[in-house]
Amino acid sequence: MQESTGAGPEYPGDHAVTDDFGLAGVPDAFQRLWTPHRMAYIKGGQHQFKNVDDCPFCVAPEREDEDSLIVYRGRTSYVVLNLFPYNPGHLLICPYRHIPDYTDLTVEETAEFAELTQTAMRVLRKVANPTGFNLGMNQGVTGGAGIAGHLHQHVVPRWGGDGNFFPIIAQTKAITQTLGEVRQQVADAWPEEVPAEQEAAGEQDA
Ligand SMILES: [Zn+2]
Repeated sequence: MQESTGAGPEYPGDHAVTDDFGLAGVPDAFQRLWTPHRMAYIKGGQHQFKNVDDCPFCVAPEREDEDSLIVYRGRTSYVVLNLFPYNPGHLLICPYRHIPDYTDLTVEETAEFAELTQTAMRVLRKVANPTGFNLGMNQGVTGGAGIAGHLHQHVVPRWGGDGNFFPIIAQTKAITQTLGEVRQQVADAWPEEVPAEQEAAGEQDA
């Protein structure tokens, strides 16, 4: 142990600090990405969700929007808040059909899947002003898909330096309420769908 230099206060716990959550820890050079949900897939492996009944993306639309964190229901796909967000406002675009691969989407489904991804970005820009996004689909367990059996597109809003907030988000107990609030905010900001017939009729009227 070094003697105090007198340059400033020295605390007994300097070499084993306590973080904001009351947990003891020794600081190091690494930032951490908390992904506790991954444990389910490590434990269950790729057979975790082999039945449709077990698939959270098949079950979600059967529940109320508030319970399932759905922000918008389209014709062939819906948009849901990720229960395990990398960032606040982390959305998932999911087809209703239990299909694993991007190439399984029909032309119609592909069009709406893309449209909902764009709308998700516009809505998140409106409500949360992110400065960047990560979009992506992990295909297959090898490709990193947590739920490989049911296709889903991640829409992750990004802000400068947001990596610093990961531990805070992952550890705070307010996350359930935050998800509920975020869901409401995004759902409220989601534009009303204009049915194609109505759109055409409007053009005729004009
Ligand atoms: Zn499914």
